Amino acid sequence: MMNATQRRRGRQLVRRIYPSRGAGFALGAISVASVLFEQGAGPASWLMIAFSGLVWPHLAYWHAHLSDNPYRSEKINQHFDAAQCGFWTVMMGFNLLPSVMAFSMLGMVLLSLGGKRRCLNGMLVYSLSAAVTWLPSDVPTQLQSSLFTLLASIPALLFYPLLIGYSAYRFALAANEQRKQLEIVSRTDGLSGLFNRQHWEQRVAEAFASNQKDQSAYSLLMLDIDYFKQVNDRFGHVAGDDVIRQVARLLEECFQQSACIGRYGGDEFGILLPDCNAAQALERAEQARQHVFSRLHSNSPATLSLGIAELNADKESYADWILHADLALYQAKRQGRNRAVCFSELDDACLAAEA
Ligand code: GH3
Ligand code: MG
Repeated sequence: MMNATQRRRGRQLVRRIYPSRGAGFALGAISVASVLFEQGAGPASWLMIAFSGLVWPHLAYWHAHLSDNPYRSEKINQHFDAAQCGFWTVMMGFNLLPSVMAFSMLGMVLLSLGGKRRCLNGMLVYSLSAAVTWLPSDVPTQLQSSLFTLLASIPALLFYPLLIGYSAYRFALAANEQRKQLEIVSRTDGLSGLFNRQHWEQRVAEAFASNQKDQSAYSLLMLDIDYFKQVNDRFGHVAGDDVIRQVARLLEECFQQSACIGRYGGDEFGILLPDCNAAQALERAEQARQHVFSRLHSNSPATLSLGIAELNADKESYADWILHADLALYQAKRQGRNRAVCFSELDDACLAAEA
């Protein structure tokens, strides 16, 4: 049983196929009709070609669109497309131009929709249908196509490939858009809308590598909300989530495009500052702390602690750099919270001794 999303996607596919099937059968029917005209065909043949050219594409659309399983119904439609092509090939006495054209149009569609396997299945249905029509039929074989048939086939020869090319182009555009959306989702933290930890760390690693090459200045801020657990405990997780979202927005407001901000996890954020030494980073950390404190709308005041680490020669890896900023954050917590502290080797040594 399909779920609603799968059904919706299936119906999108059916809508996408509808114009090309409609145009393909209508244009193909003109070409077949020219042969029927030359054969002096009876009313039954004319009724059948009118059905194929004018009625079938709409019937196929509604059959798949109203179905509980649009994919399966569309596959059945494609088999019926193939069966009709086989049928008309025989009914035209294998008249070469329209027969080859119908065969190639069918192959083009089946390949583009379902790859080699769908195409081979379709060709099998095409051959079976042709055989079943041919055995009892008394239509004489007439391979040669007249100028009249050639003229009647021009619309299909001209417009159908253009239509298929255009729909392939639109499909490629949609796929590209989807790929971009996926890329955004894969690097975004769902709650805060900031970069997620994986992507943010990747950016830190890139900054580290660029510094190795050209010694460009970078600083890192690690930032944590003070006593955040109490917000959750007193006002609930929904209020806690709201505080995380607000802090994220206020940090974006404060740093604008000049920093790369990510949610490191829980109530901890990471901020990568390009072109920034430790003194400048300390100044910007203070600005951020005050900005968040003065603008956050919350039931209880939420303060921030920040740790700062400048990228210099003592960092052996980007992980080392993040660790140093984290150690500075730990110092800020130990010194009473609601403050920004720069990493120093001396403090680091003290912390290590305490541990
Ligand atoms: P400290 O000042 O030492 O940082 O104290 P704290 O209470 O903030 O302690 P800590 O940073 O260790 O607590 C983080 C809490 O954040 C623990 C967890 O319940 C909560 N938390 C983590 N992720 C989320 C989240 O996505 N939403 C909410 N509402 N809470 C979260
Ligand atoms: Mg905290």
